[in-house]
Amino acid sequence: MNQFKRDASRQMKKDFEVMLVEDSRTQALKFKLMLESHGYHVSHAKNGLEAMNMLLNSQTSIVISDWIMPEMDGSELCRAIRKHDFGNYVYIILLTAKDSKNDIIEGLEAGADDYLTKPVDDAELIARLTTAERVIRLESSLKKRNNEIALLSITDHLTQIFNRGYLNDNLPKAFKRAVRYQQPLSIIICDIDHFKKINDTYGHQAGDIVLKSFVQKLNRTLRKDLDWMARFGGEEFLIILPETDLNGATVVAERLRSRIVELVTPADGNDLRITASFGIAAITHDTDKSHLTSEDLIKAADQCLYQAKNEGRNRSIGICI
Ligand code: GH3
Ligand code: MG
Ligand code: MG
Ligand code: MG
Repeated sequence: MNQFKRDASRQMKKDFEVMLVEDSRTQALKFKLMLESHGYHVSHAKNGLEAMNMLLNSQTSIVISDWIMPEMDGSELCRAIRKHDFGNYVYIILLTAKDSKNDIIEGLEAGADDYLTKPVDDAELIARLTTAERVIRLESSLKKRNNEIALLSITDHLTQIFNRGYLNDNLPKAFKRAVRYQQPLSIIICDIDHFKKINDTYGHQAGDIVLKSFVQKLNRTLRKDLDWMARFGGEEFLIILPETDLNGATVVAERLRSRIVELVTPADGNDLRITASFGIAAITHDTDKSHLTSEDLIKAADQCLYQAKNEGRNRSIGICI
């Protein structure tokens, strides 16, 4: 390749970093220059152990490894890589002077994706790397899609907060933790007052807009990273306040209540206002509570909500269990 061509292909930087694991300095240098001329970023480790250490601190997704090396050889490195979760797939190509069937099987069984026998043909190695890139792209798009699906499965479509399924999985866990470590835990159930009237007067779409702005307002008022909320039912939401006792939760509920009173939502040419009622329940540890479940906490909060509605709405009532 002439200098001009080499410079041009160097500029076509590849997305993938390749790690070369090779104990021979001359061989390593030869491969490095060749791979760099094809646009790859190349790092070099002298043996498997060094490679593992470097992999832990990099985004490398392709490893080209020699078979025979001191400290940790190629097949040991394959096993070590497969045992570890790097967060992304590491594609391994083994380079070996061995070409007996058994050695190839051993390498593949150890976790290699592909192998080449030495002396390596440059064009063949580049072609194998193209396959590696294809596999890695596929794996990462699958992973991205899986993450999106996992997120969708716990998210309420309208309000974009956690759904009932997430709540059912995670409130019992939070409750058990609070009981085991005798930590405070409170929940607040809030329900919009006379919400049917909004739907009946302004239409279901306006109702949806109000629901979204209600949730946004609640979300902004909560402590980030600690408190969380989920859609419990139609216009009912459950807020979970870890490490918070009844006094703390009452302060939070009153703050939420007054923010909702101030909230004005423009929908369908009208400025809509709502109020909401709040039922609070907190677990205390004055006596043994290991016989209770998160269902008991929800039931207690629900009874308080019912009472708040009966006493005129736009208020909060709480209880300890
Ligand atoms: P209150 O709670 O003060 O007793 O009165 P309410 O009118 O809010 O009573 P209720 O809880 O029985 O009614 C809730 C209404 O919320 C009924 C239902 O049509 C509406 N709703 C539930 N989910 C949605 C939704 O996703 N979008 C819209 N627009 N309305 C919803
Ligand atoms: Mg070697
Ligand atoms: Mg309601
Ligand atoms: Mg309701």
